Amino acid sequence: MRQRFVAGNWKLNGTRQSISTLLQGILSGMQDVKNAEVAVCAPYIYIPLVAESLKNSAIVYGAQNVSEYESGAYTGEISAPMLKEFDCKYAIVGHSERRSIYNETDQQVAAKFVAAQNFGIRPILCVGERLEERESNDTENVVARQLDAVIAKAGIESFREAVIAYEPVWAIGTGKTASPEQAQEVHAFIRQRLARKNPEVANLVQILYGGSVKPDNARSLFAQADIDGGLIGGASLDASGFLSICCAAN
Ligand code: PEP
Repeated sequence: MRQRFVAGNWKLNGTRQSISTLLQGILSGMQDVKNAEVAVCAPYIYIPLVAESLKNSAIVYGAQNVSEYESGAYTGEISAPMLKEFDCKYAIVGHSERRSIYNETDQQVAAKFVAAQNFGIRPILCVGERLEERESNDTENVVARQLDAVIAKAGIESFREAVIAYEPVWAIGTGKTASPEQAQEVHAFIRQRLARKNPEVANLVQILYGGSVKPDNARSLFAQADIDGGLIGGASLDASGFLSICCAAN
């Protein structure tokens, strides 16, 4: 049985004050979250604050990105050993906003995945198709290409220490959620793709759904056989909404 997992992606949001308030709100309702591991992925600069606020709590935390390089002349970057120093458990890699706005390639995402794992950080690998790709029946090709780039570089065994998030780009921040059946279809495809290399790894890897998950649609998404939880953007900025989503994984 795979552990349920709900991760919040705060993106470029928050202040010291709002993050402290948000975390206090989430912490105060955590006794109702019985089954899911809960993580928050904060803007880099707030990670020390998050670490301090979550000390001795059941909530873990991570970053929204990580450099593929360990150190050197890469102005503005943050590396996996730096994140490790602050005890980040997770780092999101290949979020569609990074792929589209910052032109991150499949190969770069794969390098970030490996860089995180080299320092004991579990990558949350995001994959997903754009609207035009879905409309031209290319969803599986796109997801397979994104996945295969990481399998080729990191190896199938690396997925024992990783999480995958299926996030259809057309559903992110748009209020349009994939139906539970649409999401399940792609999740099953991802698991089958991994199973071609190693069925045991495919069976144990957690595959999250992301894309306008809200308290009112989380339960039906999480009820699908291959959906193990969610990567939550907008709704993770509201403590009670985020807690409802975490409880939907119960
Ligand atoms: C995300 O950015 O990973 C995401 C799923 O965003 P939202 O929940 O706002 O669609």
